[in-house]
Amino acid sequence: MKKAMLMAVAILFSTATVFAAHTPNALSDTTKTKKVKPAKVQYTCPMHPDVLSDKPGKCPKCGMTLVKKEPAKKKTDSMKMKM
Ligand SMILES: [Zn+2]
Repeated sequence: MKKAMLMAVAILFSTATVFAAHTPNALSDTTKTKKVKPAKVQYTCPMHPDVLSDKPGKCPKCGMTLVKKEPAKKKTDSMKMKM
């Protein structure tokens, strides 16, 4: 009884260790490679440029899959007009 419990804990622990070891590894990997994009990626609808999302999804207006919109220039977002 006690042994089985210990086994379960050991398995859980090793799984957690693998997970913990995996996450920082992936993080440092992205830091090492210069492919990392520091810029904020936004997703927009090809048909509705006014639809912007910070994560992939569907356009709320037409249901199309949002495409990645990479900022061409470093520009402050002042798209919104002052009302
Ligand atoms: Zn749309």
